[in-house]
Amino acid sequence: MQLNRNFTRRSRDHAGTTPSIDKPLANQDVVDLFDYLENALANHECEHSFHITEAYLASNGLNSNRVLPWLRKCGANCDCEILGDFEFKWRQS
Ligand SMILES: [Zn+2]
Repeated sequence: MQLNRNFTRRSRDHAGTTPSIDKPLANQDVVDLFDYLENALANHECEHSFHITEAYLASNGLNSNRVLPWLRKCGANCDCEILGDFEFKWRQS
């Protein structure tokens, strides 16, 4: 039954991101984004925009046209909200 256990575990890991819609970011990119935002917001107030997120996406060649609408759908409307509710949900799921 080793196989079953592995399978169960893998499918749970795979579902390990918040929403059910297509994820435009790999899990590792999301984790990196959290780190990046934490560092940036330690030094700057959130501007109630995706200013920092956009800088991260641009410097990593990621498509903000797909990522930002996804973040909004997940309930994050600015950089600091990504580290709030969104991060919590993303890590829980
Ligand atoms: Zn904010």
